[in-house]
Amino acid sequence: MLTSFGRHFETVHRPPQCERCYRLFPDSKKLNDNRREPEGCLIGEVDLKEGIDDPQWDEIEVLLSAQGRRRINNVSRWYAIWNIFFQAWKHLQTHVSMRI
Ligand SMILES: [Zn+2]
Repeated sequence: MLTSFGRHFETVHRPPQCERCYRLFPDSKKLNDNRREPEGCLIGEVDLKEGIDDPQWDEIEVLLSAQGRRRINNVSRWYAIWNIFFQAWKHLQTHVSMRI
C-alpha cells in the first residue's frame, strides 16, 4: 500500500518539470530533451515552479522507506508528509498573493 501511495505521488503530483526554465513536459523523455539542448533553456521565474521540489521529494521518500518506517509510526509519518505538502501550498499562496 505504501509503495502504491509513493507511485501515486510520482505520477500524479510530480509532472516532469525542468529545474531551470520550470517548463512542464508531458513525459520525462521530453524533459530530458530540453535539458540536453546545446544552448540551454532560459532560467524561469521561481513562481512557475510546481509545489513540491526535489529536497521535499527526498524527504517524502525517506519517510516512506523502510528506514523511515522503523523510525516513526504511521500517524507521525502521514502527518510529516502532509506537512510537506502544506508548506509547498503555503509557498505557492505567498507567491500568488504577492502578484495581486
Ligand atoms: Zn528547461
